[in-house]
Amino acid sequence: MVHKKGFRLALIVSVCSVLSLTMAAPGTFAAKGDASKKVGIASSSQIKKAADNFLKKHATKYQLKKNLSDLKYVTTIRTKAASYVRYQETINNHPVFTKQVTVTVSPQGKAKLVVSDYTPYNEVVAIKSKLSAKAVQSKALQRIGAKEKDQSAPATQNYGYTIQDGKAIPVVRVVSHTSKPYGAWETYVHAENGKVLTKKNLNQEATGTGKVFQPNPLESYGATSSFSDNRDRDSTALNNQLKTVSLLGLNGTGYLKGSYVTISSKANTYSSTNTFNYTRAKNSFEDVMVYYHIDTMQRYIQSLGFNNINNRSITANVNTISDDNSYYDPSNKKLTFGSGGVDDAEDAGIITHEYGHSIQDNQVPGFGNSSQGGAMGEGFGDFLGATYEDATSSSSYGKACVGEWDATSYSSSNPPCLRRLDNNKVYPADWEGEVHADGEIWSQALYDMASTFGRDTATKIVLQSHWSLTPNASFSDGYKGMLAADASLYGSAHKDKITAIFAARGIK
Ligand SMILES: [Zn+2]
Repeated sequence: MVHKKGFRLALIVSVCSVLSLTMAAPGTFAAKGDASKKVGIASSSQIKKAADNFLKKHATKYQLKKNLSDLKYVTTIRTKAASYVRYQETINNHPVFTKQVTVTVSPQGKAKLVVSDYTPYNEVVAIKSKLSAKAVQSKALQRIGAKEKDQSAPATQNYGYTIQDGKAIPVVRVVSHTSKPYGAWETYVHAENGKVLTKKNLNQEATGTGKVFQPNPLESYGATSSFSDNRDRDSTALNNQLKTVSLLGLNGTGYLKGSYVTISSKANTYSSTNTFNYTRAKNSFEDVMVYYHIDTMQRYIQSLGFNNINNRSITANVNTISDDNSYYDPSNKKLTFGSGGVDDAEDAGIITHEYGHSIQDNQVPGFGNSSQGGAMGEGFGDFLGATYEDATSSSSYGKACVGEWDATSYSSSNPPCLRRLDNNKVYPADWEGEVHADGEIWSQALYDMASTFGRDTATKIVLQSHWSLTPNASFSDGYKGMLAADASLYGSAHKDKITAIFAARGIK
């Protein structure tokens, strides 16, 4: 949670593309007779006939039936250079999944090439009854090991066949979307006995592009400015701070959903080309900010060698509350960013602070039950945010300060700061009994480690140390966890400096 001073804590085109039997491909023109009027150019029906005849003539070579009775015509795609006739293998009028045949035909109507998946079989397995759709779905989810369904994408079922060992087996092809584990799963479930014959994740990662503040407009501008929220309006000066970035790991549906982040927002941002260029006045801008900065943070954590820290697609609700606050909810494991003041998700410092809470909860379920644990939680979030801001900013403006842009709504300091990491607060003299204020004791120790050892080393030690802790751990436990982590990772190479850094904060 981001407790702001002066505020009283108000804080696919689906990849499941079942072969569509009537699909028209983009960028091609429909098969109409116009072209046939030109001399030597075959009509669509002539092309289809040429393809049929060619397949009949070479039926033996491609193991097809002489009369092509089980090949269902799908489409003819016409381009200037050639035409393409596509067929689907069927049994009893149902598709044999994925088994297609194409014939490439010249503009003059001469068949040039056959590509065939056609698979002959000795036997069609007969069944007496079919499982219910519900039973099929439960078999599929069981095999996927689904812990959480993606409610936004319903499952689809299609009846057909798959051929294994010369046998055509009646199956239901099920595509289920789950957020845990993350994926769009294709399974073939035996239509009678429910056995799952195959399982595959259909998601294909896509890279998109978008515009973000990096990390926020004040830091990237790098000097005192007169930027102001102005009720979420655009300005030339703020637009000038937008940076173009790649959005990695998208699932290819056109929504901001991917390996490490699932945006669930007011704007429900969509782009068929995965191009997400918005200015701050648009709610979609914040969706892009959250996607990009959390994805970048998770990739950073993995680059440090940790593949098991919050390694999931976290749901982030963006602009879904009007409070000037944001939070992580450990009961549903989701993040929420509010739109009060400067929209919270316009500042990477706020985004990464909140992600910090989800990291700790992931490493130590229930973390921060004690008051010192709560302060460590807030301090860790500020450390994560401030070091991320430092690393992504091209300027040195805003060092030891987190959330400069967000803070323009409520701070009059220069730079404006949600909180600082160099107030030299000492435990227990400066203890206030408020987790955010007390978090400044902890965050400064962590930030000093980053200044002394470098961000990567400090972050590794800090993350590694969390696993030693319990929900009621104290500052002292946290410090001891830090020494244990340094011992495991670096043979205690940083022991003396860590000890001095924490001693300066009154922690031993
Ligand atoms: Zn917080």
